[in-house]
Amino acid sequence: MKKSDVTCPECGAGFRRLELQLGPGTTGEYRCPVCHEVLEEFEGNALVAYRMTIQPSIKGIRD
Ligand SMILES: [Zn+2]
Repeated sequence: MKKSDVTCPECGAGFRRLELQLGPGTTGEYRCPVCHEVLEEFEGNALVAYRMTIQPSIKGIRD
């Protein structure tokens, strides 16, 4: 299992990203639940899960 941290470039929310090498993989895309920026487009070769770990600032949401 691979772990990494991802920060949304739009609102600054932080996410823990988990990747598992087993099928069927995740397809489609993951969008930030706060601002709906696309954070990743999945290629279907791994199972990927995101979990928000850092809430964005209020100012970030309004911008
Ligand atoms: Zn965002």
